[in-house]
Amino acid sequence: MPVSGKPPYDDQNIFAKILRGEIPCQKVFEDDYALAFNDINPQGPIHVLVIPKAPYVSYADFAATAPETLIANFSRAVAAVAKQLGLEETGYRLIANMGPDSHQMVPHYHVHIIGGRPLGHMIVPLKT
Ligand code: 5GP
Repeated sequence: MPVSGKPPYDDQNIFAKILRGEIPCQKVFEDDYALAFNDINPQGPIHVLVIPKAPYVSYADFAATAPETLIANFSRAVAAVAKQLGLEETGYRLIANMGPDSHQMVPHYHVHIIGGRPLGHMIVPLKT
């Protein structure tokens, strides 16, 4: 069931458990601000999730309430992960789902990095 993207934060969500080390992940990057790990259901040859190491429900929550230091360093971490994955030459797509229409499923803000092949158009057009 898609989530609302609005606080309050549920500290039992799956990414909170990954951050606390209660369930495993295939880690690809970690610093003081961010953790990055492979998506369990990859949508491309490379599909990595980057999450802030702090409790924000969604992009909207993060942008409105996170300290500027975290916003800046998280943003840099996303780019650093993409570079580490070798995607800077060929390119990549970032996705941050927010709220029900986006089909956000996990209520901890995360950025998807997808790449490793041509990704086509950004969104499949709606059939009329
Ligand atoms: P959303 O739809 O919320 O933007 O994306 C959530 C993503 O989390 C999905 O791509 C899904 O495959 C991934 N995911 C869900 N549960 C787990 C998990 O336990 N481990 C990992 N690594 N990824 C997960």
